[in-house]
Amino acid sequence: MFRPRSPLGSKKNFRLATHVNMKFILSEFQDGVPVHVEGSYDAKTIDVEFPDMLYTAPILVSGEAEKSVGMLRFQGTLTATVKRICGKCLKEKNEALSFDFDWIFDLSGKDTVEPLENVRELLIVEHPLVHLCKASCRGLCPQCGIDLNEGACNCKKISYHASPVIIKKEKSKKERHHGTS
Ligand SMILES: [Zn+2]
Ligand SMILES: [Zn+2]
Repeated sequence: MFRPRSPLGSKKNFRLATHVNMKFILSEFQDGVPVHVEGSYDAKTIDVEFPDMLYTAPILVSGEAEKSVGMLRFQGTLTATVKRICGKCLKEKNEALSFDFDWIFDLSGKDTVEPLENVRELLIVEHPLVHLCKASCRGLCPQCGIDLNEGACNCKKISYHASPVIIKKEKSKKERHHGTS
């Protein structure tokens, strides 16, 4: 729901608007008159959650919408709080997200404008393929499951000894290939 925000002082060219169902009803806008709007979205109902990024509060959108001939410009900020899960060590962390946006909607043949698709796109595009708690996260040992950021295990030693052998093999293959050509 977009809810009108109470005006603080009487700003010029400022007026309140009531928006239902998160839609900008264009007949409520006057050309060149910016309107402050605030709204919230439930991450679950707009399908923007990822298994490694869960929203812990409603997504808030606030800004100024201004209609002019044939278009509506909506500039503002989107904020959300999320619980992110590291793709390597599975540690959970709460984070605050904030994105500035500047959206322009083409109004041809429209009575209303619904920014939902823009909100979804912003949140989905900004989501990294793999979220890491830190770039240097060492993850979990695939054998015993210990968090390698917090300590080492014996399995790590085994793989450490094994890797130089693999490197050697690859090297000798390359050398042979080089020698015959
Ligand atoms: Zn991690
Ligand atoms: Zn281990």
